[in-house]
Amino acid sequence: MLRVAVVGGGPSGSCAAEILAKANIKTWIFERKLDNAKPCGGAIPLCMVEEFDLPESIIDRKVRNMKMISPSNREVDIRLDNVYSKDDKSEYIGMLRREVMDAFMRNRAAELGANLVNGLVTKIETGTNREGPYTLTYSDYSAGEATGEMKTLEVDIIIGADGANSRVAKAMDAGDYNYAVAFQERIKLPPEEMKYYEDLAEMYVGSDVSPDFYGWVFPKYDHVAVGTGTMRKNQSLIKDLQEGVRDRAMKRLVHGEVIKIEAHQIPEHPRPRRVVGRMALVGDAAGYVTKSSGEGIYFAAKSGRMCAEQIVESSKRGQTIPTEGDLKKYLKKWDRKYGATYTVLSILQFIFYRSDAAREAFVAMCDDMDVQRLTFDSYLYKKVVAMNPWQQIKLTLLTIDAIARGLVRPPSSSYKPVPSAVRSDEEVNKMLAIKGITGGIKVGNKKPSTASKS
Ligand SMILES: Cc1cc2nc3c(=O)[nH]c(=O)nc-3n(C[C@H](O)[C@H](O)[C@H](O)COP(=O)(O)OP(=O)(O)OC[C@H]3O[C@@H](n4cnc5c(N)ncnc54)[C@H](O)[C@@H]3O)c2cc1C
Repeated sequence: MLRVAVVGGGPSGSCAAEILAKANIKTWIFERKLDNAKPCGGAIPLCMVEEFDLPESIIDRKVRNMKMISPSNREVDIRLDNVYSKDDKSEYIGMLRREVMDAFMRNRAAELGANLVNGLVTKIETGTNREGPYTLTYSDYSAGEATGEMKTLEVDIIIGADGANSRVAKAMDAGDYNYAVAFQERIKLPPEEMKYYEDLAEMYVGSDVSPDFYGWVFPKYDHVAVGTGTMRKNQSLIKDLQEGVRDRAMKRLVHGEVIKIEAHQIPEHPRPRRVVGRMALVGDAAGYVTKSSGEGIYFAAKSGRMCAEQIVESSKRGQTIPTEGDLKKYLKKWDRKYGATYTVLSILQFIFYRSDAAREAFVAMCDDMDVQRLTFDSYLYKKVVAMNPWQQIKLTLLTIDAIARGLVRPPSSSYKPVPSAVRSDEEVNKMLAIKGITGGIKVGNKKPSTASKS
């Protein structure tokens, strides 16, 4: 009977283990830290809730308003009330804490029959030509001791769901990928400050917050996650960039207290090899985060599920051992389904994040209702959205205009930055004089930014 080890108990590993367990395949899922809080913004698309049967109780906030904030502090509000119906509040972006979601998904896989091992996999012997059987050595922490008990397990297939620093990827010689680094502070706000972020998330673009991506303020249960990311080559700038996000959001964060500081890599593209022998990579281990948006949770869960479904099918529900060729079928299906999405988002990142002028144009474009609908339809539902010819022409013209602005013109002087704060500077300065943000990275005693940076 087939034996499968899933290394990693994040969304990719749990979703893989769940499918295997449902098919009665002997499955072990290894997670080194059962209360692991993966550094993450925790934003998920609506379709994930239904597709992965997530209970609403694990979602902290249902975001229906998104504020895009340009380098010159021009704000564009994207309200789902305007994009969709005012009366029907069913569309939202889910905001959750990863420690809550991961524990839920992992426990569900275990309840369905997967053997959940609280263990750190430290070594993988891959057999002749890396074809197995595979011997995993791991520290078993289930007894609650800090050092763990060394154990081994032999299996026929390994699913590497162990994130960006994947040990499975190393064992199978999957090759490296370029990565970004992301930094995040969780800032607890008093309830009256939190009200502003009730159902609102903010995205900041500008070279002060990220030369490559965007900075964010995402609301959670009783705090906001404030963070930014940049490519590995700009890694040394990360704290200055974080300071940039804090500075821009300062007016809304006074009286905050940093309760957690987190940082992690984000893969930039798939690894050169994602299946070797009977070992397959999924989620971040494979490199399935999209450019532009940095979205990886849905793709991790989906890839874990698709890989496991392939194993169930090829093994005739665990009766035979699938071959490398069988496992590679999962890759074919994956690339066919999502290849275009990755390419489009890569191109968008190249066009719109290349300069502050391009970023201004990008935010200006987001003011258009067709652009908002297209963006949200494709994000929330993960499907390619058909446009009518007029929308296509308009979007093409807007894109050409945006490219022209980005490449040849500074941001138009006709931009009238909307005041990005709900308070006056005097009021904010008074508040800052009493108490700014407690803890976290050191931020100079700055006044809140109001002036256009163009
Ligand atoms: C700061 C930041 C913000 C982000 N924000 C978002 C966002 O808002 N929305 C979004 O969609 N994506 C976001 N992402 C990306 C998202 O976090 C990842 O794409 C996603 O977590 C990938 O899931 P995964 O299951 O593949 O890997 P992971 O979530 O990394 O899970 C891997 C698991 O494996 C375990 N593990 C690792 N090695 C071993 C081992 N040897 N033995 C046992 N266990 C092991 C780890 O403890 C971990 O639990 C963000 C990433 C970062 C860094």
